[in-house]
Amino acid sequence: MIISGKDIAAQLRSDMQQQVEAMAAEYGRTPCLVVIQVGNDPASTIYVRNKMRAAEFCHIRSQHLLLPDSISEQDLCAHIAELNADNDVDGILVQLPLPQHIDEEHVIRAILAEKDVDGFHPANAAHLWLHQPLVKSHVASIYNPVPDYGCTIPCTPKGILSLLASTGVELDGKRAVVVGRSDIVGKPMAKLLMDRQCTVTVAHSHTRDLPAVCREADILIVAVGKPKLITKDCIKPGALVIDVGINRLPDGTLSGDVDFAECKDIAGFITPVPGGVGPMTVTMLMQNTIDCFRRRMLQGKE
Ligand code: NAD
Repeated sequence: MIISGKDIAAQLRSDMQQQVEAMAAEYGRTPCLVVIQVGNDPASTIYVRNKMRAAEFCHIRSQHLLLPDSISEQDLCAHIAELNADNDVDGILVQLPLPQHIDEEHVIRAILAEKDVDGFHPANAAHLWLHQPLVKSHVASIYNPVPDYGCTIPCTPKGILSLLASTGVELDGKRAVVVGRSDIVGKPMAKLLMDRQCTVTVAHSHTRDLPAVCREADILIVAVGKPKLITKDCIKPGALVIDVGINRLPDGTLSGDVDFAECKDIAGFITPVPGGVGPMTVTMLMQNTIDCFRRRMLQGKE
């Protein structure tokens, strides 16, 4: 069965419109997201445009701050400091990658953790790893895919948990394999699945016999960036397969990390590329903005 991230994302965005309208009535204003783009990298421009459109659809106020790629790290951080201090701004996102002369880690650290809608700030990452949420009392659904960690969870793994919830498959006790160990997808994904009582293996570029490792998986999440790395000999029959990869092929088309055509009949559930994880990531960014706003309002920080 194909999991349509596009359809689930559309459902979630309609729900977010309602959340935002209810919040406007309660707090007298709507959430505000600022997206900072440095330079004119064409891929970044597309990603930023998608984020601004999603915000508009959800009735989230948004601002696109386009800065020249010659900007110094210090000046970029000064812009962030201004936004940190602005009580009308709830979420700040710096579109990555940044030009080489700027240290991304310094920039991410410059964002106030409570406004870090990507969940990349070390305070949010540490909180995710050290906090044990009350999973027993949490009923996962596409709308509420993760228990309350009290911090921002990175958008892609959060969106994947929403996709998993859409299948109705019970996660408790399942074998999960996450291929890729990045800070933004693989690592947080592994922690979130551990917290959902999965037995998790993280595979990476030095893993030996990747197909054998993947075949153990009831739930296989692939975030590598290599087109069609995962072939049918990597799939356990009936497995739930989530393809995070986005790869532009020489003919201009997009491919995931999973060979969709040859895996779709073996997998129990599988996501396509495009139309799978991608739309969910942007959607979760909107939810994270709403959640940052809500937390700030509850703390009286407005
Ligand atoms: P990354 O690019 O930072 O790292 C790649 C990971 O893959 C590394 O951990 C590496 O160890 C592993 N790897 C490399 N070759 C491997 C191999 N042969 N076998 C097993 N593992 C191998 O990772 P990322 O930032 O998570 O991005 C991965 C892919 O996911 C990219 O295609 C990216 O564009 C895509 N992505 C998509 C979304 C989305 O919303 N759909 C979000 C984030 C990333």
